Amino acid sequence: MKRVVIVGAGIIGLMMAKELSSRGLEAIVYDGKKDVSEGSEKASGILSKRGLELSGMDYKDSIVNTLRGARLHFGRQTLKVIAKNVQAYVLDRGKLAEANLRGAAEAGADIRLGSRLDLEKIRDFDDGNTVIVGADGAVSSVARAFSFPQIKSFVLTYKAEYRNARISDRSVVDLYFSKRYAQGFFGWVAPYSDSVAELGIGITDKIKKHSMMAFDSFTGADEVKETIEGAELIKGHASIIPVSRRDKTAEGNVILVGDAAGQTKATTGGGIIFGIACAKVAARSIYLNIKEGRRLSLYDRDWRKSYGADLRMHAALHDYYSRVSEAHMERFIGIAKALGAESFFSKYGDMDSPTLMLKRLFLRKLVK
Ligand SMILES: Cc1cc2nc3c(=O)[nH]c(=O)nc-3n(C[C@H](O)[C@H](O)[C@H](O)COP(=O)(O)OP(=O)(O)OC[C@H]3O[C@@H](n4cnc5c(N)ncnc54)[C@H](O)[C@@H]3O)c2cc1C
Repeated sequence: MKRVVIVGAGIIGLMMAKELSSRGLEAIVYDGKKDVSEGSEKASGILSKRGLELSGMDYKDSIVNTLRGARLHFGRQTLKVIAKNVQAYVLDRGKLAEANLRGAAEAGADIRLGSRLDLEKIRDFDDGNTVIVGADGAVSSVARAFSFPQIKSFVLTYKAEYRNARISDRSVVDLYFSKRYAQGFFGWVAPYSDSVAELGIGITDKIKKHSMMAFDSFTGADEVKETIEGAELIKGHASIIPVSRRDKTAEGNVILVGDAAGQTKATTGGGIIFGIACAKVAARSIYLNIKEGRRLSLYDRDWRKSYGADLRMHAALHDYYSRVSEAHMERFIGIAKALGAESFFSKYGDMDSPTLMLKRLFLRKLVK
């Protein structure tokens, strides 16, 4: 029977390993890290409650804070999308990684940490008897080893934690859309508690700028500096997020999943919920390939059929925002507010699935 080699023990690789091992398949995971939580402070952990409940992850012990919504700042306009109940969680990414490691190991996966694979080693696995899964993140070696098409757009990020920050409401995230500091993306203030907050920034890779410089402009901006006046900066980290999907994610015995495939929401950079959903599709495709001889390349069609529409909508929204001027966005938000956008999004909004939001709206019209 074919075995499965997964390159990458990130959230998505470990979820793949758990899914495959639970189906009785042999799954071996390789990662260069010695400890799965290594580097977890480079990313944030804001995930929707609904997405987490569906994910199958053991996330409860990783919860740091609960969120009811967000304030989206566009120049002088602020759109408040705040529900009555908890909509999302801020998670400790290190703890979440450890929980996923336990889940995969308990299911029977063979996890080999401290094993970074070069392109030659990855190609050696292609022996006709192995399925190779690239779950190795935004700069995927598996994608390079087998000449997959490139990811065309990335967001460059920088984030840091502040102690003794001034937080007005710990259940709300603030998002700042301004071309002054966050070209092609946004800056954020995410509360961890009443006094600890994470500040972060993303900028498009299409401009020649370091994300740390953008972060300095962001934290120095009038609308943000009050939050961190007198606060202690704990640590800062740069990273990247892919914000476009690869044109092809399966070829022969090789597939790509998660950030390696570009399965992220281009609007927010969130990659965990869709990455996990696609990992489940991938596990099923591998199972059917090994047990019934179904073509593995159908994975590409399968995940796009289930999640392609949502990811395309996120990409379209991101493109729109990136292209229009700040003055235009300010006017647009003013009009949207006047038309009742705040109460609409607070009631029907879904931070993962725009198609689900449209379905809810449609159902509401039908019921009326
Ligand atoms: C600043 C920032 C904020 C974010 N905020 C959120 C958020 O709030 N919510 C959300 O859902 N998502 C968020 N994301 C995105 C999220 O972190 C990613 O989508 C997610 O971590 C992708 O998981 P992955 O397993 O696909 O890849 P990764 O987490 O990148 O894991 C890939 C693994 O592969 C290993 N690897 C790579 N190459 C090799 C090799 N050659 N050999 C062996 N091992 C290898 C790496 O060591 C790594 O462990 C954020 C990202 C950033 C940068």
